[in-house]
Amino acid sequence: MPKKHTNSEGIATIEAPSTDFPAVKEGPIGLSEAAAGLFSPLVSTVAADAPAQDTTSPLTFTPQDVYDIVDKGLLGKGLDKHETTILYSVHARSKEAAYLRWAAQELSLSIKGIKAEVHAQIGLNGTICPKNCKFCSFAASNNARKGKYELPKDDVVEYAQIYEEDGANLILLLTTASYRFDKLEEMVAAVRAVISAELPLLVNTDDLTLDQWKRLKAAGANGAYHAVRMREGIDTGISLETRLATFDNLKEAGLSLSTCVEPVGPEHTAQELTEATFRCIESGAVSAGVGKRISVPGTQMFERGMLSDLVAANMVAVYRLAAGTDLRLNCSANSTLVAASGANLAWAEVGSNPRDTVKRTEHGGRGQNIRKAAEIFMSSGWEVLKGPSKGWILG
Ligand code: SF4
Repeated sequence: MPKKHTNSEGIATIEAPSTDFPAVKEGPIGLSEAAAGLFSPLVSTVAADAPAQDTTSPLTFTPQDVYDIVDKGLLGKGLDKHETTILYSVHARSKEAAYLRWAAQELSLSIKGIKAEVHAQIGLNGTICPKNCKFCSFAASNNARKGKYELPKDDVVEYAQIYEEDGANLILLLTTASYRFDKLEEMVAAVRAVISAELPLLVNTDDLTLDQWKRLKAAGANGAYHAVRMREGIDTGISLETRLATFDNLKEAGLSLSTCVEPVGPEHTAQELTEATFRCIESGAVSAGVGKRISVPGTQMFERGMLSDLVAANMVAVYRLAAGTDLRLNCSANSTLVAASGANLAWAEVGSNPRDTVKRTEHGGRGQNIRKAAEIFMSSGWEVLKGPSKGWILG
């Protein structure tokens, strides 16, 4: 079972993704008993209650299997689902995991012209949201926030200008699902009017119709952040079909996509991670990766705990190897360890934030600024892109 610790804020952190069954040591692997003990977490039988799990043929693998899969991943052409599930099953503190993280960083850095990027998010409102995602501080069913809060248009515009001056490579406007569409349209137009034409502008908002996405594009949006969240429809109040329809609608409207395997917690299995990973890869997104769930006090998921940065680093490394070199931006590089394991996209945040409980995340909350994100990249061996991010404006 994953090992659980509790940090100074009372939040539990876990050292490995769930496998649901205890690790089972396999037969001889050509090592002394003592040495074999070092590898025992890797020689495991993995089964889970995830939809993608084939319970009739449990997953077995050896340390050499892990090295071979990582070596294949280093070629940059991606991995299949079985190989990806094995890598997601590797214990984060093992020798093999260190090789996995090293390989993902090498592969990321080997991509021609690749640099790290900082995308800047402006949260437009903190209104209670009826979609009731159990991890989110905005959810009406959670007890994390009270009342209604909306960022004034003047502040949104000013933040966008400051972000561009500070070197943001892309700007993202975030709303709850309860934010009025016509207001979002107005905010998109207002921000587009003050930032450079080359600076991509994305939105992260409700599931919208094709017509609504077309209107946002006409107002000046270039793309959207959109994800099928882990256990969508079970831990959220939105059906999988609705989320998938939104992918189709925004693509048909000519908007580019940013997505992620998120929010990942200790209860998610390697099989679930693989299923979500391949959904992201097949979406053709410009940016993707894996994001761990942030435990927010007052939410229904707080008690489930939070993965450590070490596990998060493993997960982004697996995503990079599974996706290969076609993926230019791998998220979420929110710590030096993760940024040194193949992730080259981080977010700066102002305004409301579903991972926070303060009105404005920049006022004593968890939101980081562009300089902090850039420092993380520089300490991980990354050069940060200067100027607008490429590949988002589809014409
Ligand atoms: S994650 Fe989004 S849709 Fe879900 S409750 Fe929070 S704001 Fe609403």
